Amino acid sequence: MRRKLLVSAIAVAAILSCVKSPVQAQEKEKAAAKKIAIRAGRLIDGKSDTAMANALILIEGDRIVSVSAGGTAPAGVEMIDLSKATVLPGFIDTHTHLLLNGDITAEDYDVQLLKQSIPYRAILSARNARIALDHGFTTMRDLETEGAMYADVDIKNAIANGEVPGPRMQVATRAMTPTGMYPLLGYSWELQVPKGVQYVDGVDGARKAVREQVMYGADWIKYYSDRRYHFEADGVLHSMVNFTDEEAKAIVDETHRLGKKAAAHAIGSDGIAAALRAGVDTIEHGDGLTDALIDEIVRKGVYWVPTITVGAYVAPGRGGNWTKMVDLEKVAFQKALKKNVKIALGTDAGGFDWKEVNQAKEFEYYVSYGMTPMQAIRAGTVVPAELLGWSDKMGTIEAGKWADLVAVSGDPLKDITELERVKFVMKGGAVYKNELR
Ligand SMILES: [Zn+2]
Repeated sequence: MRRKLLVSAIAVAAILSCVKSPVQAQEKEKAAAKKIAIRAGRLIDGKSDTAMANALILIEGDRIVSVSAGGTAPAGVEMIDLSKATVLPGFIDTHTHLLLNGDITAEDYDVQLLKQSIPYRAILSARNARIALDHGFTTMRDLETEGAMYADVDIKNAIANGEVPGPRMQVATRAMTPTGMYPLLGYSWELQVPKGVQYVDGVDGARKAVREQVMYGADWIKYYSDRRYHFEADGVLHSMVNFTDEEAKAIVDETHRLGKKAAAHAIGSDGIAAALRAGVDTIEHGDGLTDALIDEIVRKGVYWVPTITVGAYVAPGRGGNWTKMVDLEKVAFQKALKKNVKIALGTDAGGFDWKEVNQAKEFEYYVSYGMTPMQAIRAGTVVPAELLGWSDKMGTIEAGKWADLVAVSGDPLKDITELERVKFVMKGGAVYKNELR
């Protein structure tokens, strides 16, 4: 009885300590209601086909209140002068690995899983999140931790709680393949080595794994549809499909039943076809997209996340088919563009070292592959916002959306590489970088 009383007393004390004093609450409200006006020399809002000159963006707290051409800022509002710059919506990368730091070779990968603890990798992931934000990425979908269990949920929460700077996140946690179809492989059977994914077998196993990952915080379920990519006499990039159709369908069905979305790593045509049959929401990589598969992807309204940056980065080091795959993906990209596939920017950052390559390079590839600069900008803002189900919150600069915006010195509509030199970053009304003062 006494013990019970003691526990209740502790519980009450804990609740009371969480209740903010009126002063604290007022301070929070005051901070939330902070008003900022931004003068943009050129505004690419993500909606219009052309840039707006001399725009005035009013921000209150973490939201955009209004956007107008010209106009004067109300008195008493903090003014940020970006009149010599181009302002754009914060960038969104829909395919990253914050817990990975480059894996050109199998050894690069194995060393990280074998010699680095998950806490060490989590610390590096916080550094990577800072780099991404610095490069203008205010939102990311992190597509599996590569053996670091649920540490992506922790980094997501630490960012959301304001403990470390970084992009807003949706995360996929561990990803799935059937037993034996993802590294670490090749070690003595006597050793219990870590796995880069969760091994999942059978329909019941698939449903259980989805429930487990969602329980621990997965916003997305990712699975590896294929491996062993190879060209056959038909000139098509083929692959070995990992899951049976029944298993893949169970993964996707359970994911949707729990109100989440499914992403499939699918590089060869067979893997892409299997993922589309299973009903996934996004196709990752997709190098082997054929005409028929492009039609199917359009018909089903599935998003394609091409991750060209990583392909181009790892190809020279990996050799084999990888260079040919990069060339093939360029052709697929051009066909997909003509057929209006929903292409969302994704880079596979982490597959390349965060410190070496700026993930905004992906924009440059899209333009060199045939997108107009405006199309490329939309692929990295508006389209990913839709993919994430966050269109009402981000992707464009307009009233009611989060004040997530970036600025560059030049005109990205003339030189897309400007996006690799972001000088100003604001996320939720807070300035994280300003080199334009
Ligand atoms: Zn990836």
